[in-house]
Amino acid sequence: MAGTVEQRLLAFIEQMPDWQLRYTLAQLGEQFGVSRQRVHQILGSRRRGEHDQRERVTSAQLTGLLASAGLDLGQPQPAVDAPAQARERLTAFIAANPAAVLQLWEGGMTLKAIQRQAGISRPMLERCWQELELPARRRGPRASLVVRREICAQCGEAFDWTRKLERSLRTGQRKYITCSLSCSRKLATAD
Ligand SMILES: [Zn+2]
Repeated sequence: MAGTVEQRLLAFIEQMPDWQLRYTLAQLGEQFGVSRQRVHQILGSRRRGEHDQRERVTSAQLTGLLASAGLDLGQPQPAVDAPAQARERLTAFIAANPAAVLQLWEGGMTLKAIQRQAGISRPMLERCWQELELPARRRGPRASLVVRREICAQCGEAFDWTRKLERSLRTGQRKYITCSLSCSRKLATAD
């Protein structure tokens, strides 16, 4: 393969859209005879997120590609299926925290908290949420279910207090008047 390292690298990844799933920058650097940093410099802007939408190279294509480029990158890592991995994580997280999917005013968790605790990126979480057909996040409860506005005992935010919340307070299932489960937890630990 003729050309500068940059041209060769760019030509290489052009033919292997899922290269990020298969090779580290260090592996590519070793093959192309440059540092990992140099590979990053050349490919940096092409890295983020691209692989999600783009097609996978089959292993037959891959073998041909590596041979024609005169490269010996060894047995490639099986391409990591990021969406499947995220789905698995989310499913496991929800199995362990079933209340997380409830609406916030019913004691559910914010997507931000789920994202952090399950270790999934926000775009991936939103995608999996839809795919798994989890209840869509609503802004607030239906007006008919709202008893009154309340002030969260932990964060001071005003929020809609519903019949369901009222009931859970009466039955002792809920101890505090809080806007979310995370505020309840904070309050409980402060107790
Ligand atoms: Zn609160």
